[in-house]
Amino acid sequence: MRFVKMSNAACWKEAQRYLVGGVNSPVRSFRAVGGNPFFVDRGKGPYLWDVEGNRYLDYVCSWGALILGHNNPTVLAAAKRALARGTTFGTPTTGETALAKAITQAVPSMEQVRFVSSGTEAVMSAVRLARAATGRRKILKFDGAYHGHSDALLAQAGSGMATLGIPATPGVPPAVTQETITVPFNDLEAVKRAVRLYRKELACLLVEPVVANSGVIPPASGFLAGLRRLTREAGILLIFDEVITGFRLGYGGAQKRFGVRPDLTLLGKVIGGGFPIGAYGGSKKLMRLVAPAGSVYQAGTLAGHPVAMAAGLAALQALRRPRLYAQLEEKGRILRDGLIRHADEAGVPVAVHQVGSLLTLFFTDRPVRNGDDARAADARRYARYFRGMLKRGIYLPPSAFEAWFISAAHGTRELKMTLKAHQAALKEIA
Ligand SMILES: *Cc1c(COP(=O)(O)O)cnc(C)c1O
Repeated sequence: MRFVKMSNAACWKEAQRYLVGGVNSPVRSFRAVGGNPFFVDRGKGPYLWDVEGNRYLDYVCSWGALILGHNNPTVLAAAKRALARGTTFGTPTTGETALAKAITQAVPSMEQVRFVSSGTEAVMSAVRLARAATGRRKILKFDGAYHGHSDALLAQAGSGMATLGIPATPGVPPAVTQETITVPFNDLEAVKRAVRLYRKELACLLVEPVVANSGVIPPASGFLAGLRRLTREAGILLIFDEVITGFRLGYGGAQKRFGVRPDLTLLGKVIGGGFPIGAYGGSKKLMRLVAPAGSVYQAGTLAGHPVAMAAGLAALQALRRPRLYAQLEEKGRILRDGLIRHADEAGVPVAVHQVGSLLTLFFTDRPVRNGDDARAADARRYARYFRGMLKRGIYLPPSAFEAWFISAAHGTRELKMTLKAHQAALKEIA
C-alpha cells in the first residue's frame, strides 16, 4: 500500500539530485521537447501508467525492445521460471544455446552467435572482429546512423547525439574518430568514392539497413544491394546493425526483407524480451576468430544472462506466429495514412516514413533521404506536437530523431485514439 501520493515533479526533482541530468540515458530527458519526463509506475500491453496514475499510450516501448508490448504474459512467465532457478551462474546454460539456435535459424547469415549485454557492446565487438579479420583499421558509416556509444562510432551519430545537437563528443581522442569515415545515407556514389579513396584501409562498412535513429529513413531501391556489391569487391566486411530492425521488420530482420546477406549482424533490443542484451554473429569462418576459439578477445560477466535468454526465446517464439508481422505492417500503414490525411487537411506539411512497425513523422515539405534532410525538418514544431500528444495521453519519442515503435499490443482502438489526438494536436501547431 502506498501512503504518500507521489508526483512526477517531486520524483524529477529528487532524480536530478542523484542522477546526472536526472536520467540514465540522455534521450529519456525531455530536453529536446520541453517539460519534464513522467515517472513510470507500471506498464501493460500498449499502455504505461505514471506515479500519479495517468495513463499513456506508449509509442516508445522501451526504444523498440518491447515489440509484444509491456508485461507480455508469455515472456513474463518464461522470465519468472528462469529466475526461480537462480539469477546468474557465470557458467554455461542451455538457454544460451536455445536462443542462439533460434536466431541462427531465423537469420541464415548468422551461423554462430556471441551474446553480450548491450547493443553498444555488440557493435564494438563486431568492429574489433572486422579489424582483426581484415587487418585494416578504418570504419565506414553513415551520417545520422546510431551504433551505440563506443568511442569510434560517436562521429556524426543519430539518436541522442542528433537530438541534443552534439556532432562529436569530448573525451574521444581524435586518433580514434580519425579511423571513422562518414558518408551520407542513400548516396551510393559517396560510398564508391570513399571505398576508392580508402580501398586498402577499410575494415568494414557499418549500416542500419533501415535508419531508425535519425527518424526512420528507408534505403533507396537497390542501395543495400549496391553496398553488398561494393564491399565484396573491395574485401570490406558488410555489417548490418539490426539492433532495431532485427525481429522487428520480419522474423529474419531487414536482411530477409531486402534480400541482402551481410558478413556480420548485430542484434539487441527485441531479442532480450525486455532484458539487457546484445548479440553479434556471422559465418563460422569469421566467428571462430573470437576467443576462446580464436584470439580476438571479447568477454562479459553477465553475457548470456539466464533471464534474458529465457525472456528472449519466449519473445521469439511468440513472434513466430505467421500473421504477426503482416498485422504490424497493416497497423503501420493505417497510422501512416491517417497521419498524412489529417496533416493535409490541417495544411501542415509532413513526410511520414513507415517501414513495418517503425514510423516517423517529419515536419517538412521536402523528401528525407539522409541525416541532413532529417536535421532540416522542423524539430521545434515536433516539440510542440509532442507536448500536444502527451497532453492527450499519447507518449511519442521525446525527440524528432527517434522512431515511433508500434507493438503487437497496439490495436485498432489505440490507432484511432492516436489519430484523434493527432488531429487535435495539429490544430495547435498549424
Ligand atoms: C539502440 C541501438 C544500439 C545500441 O544498443 P544499446 O543496447 O542501447 O547499447 C546500437 N545500434 C542501433 C541501431 C540501435 O538502435
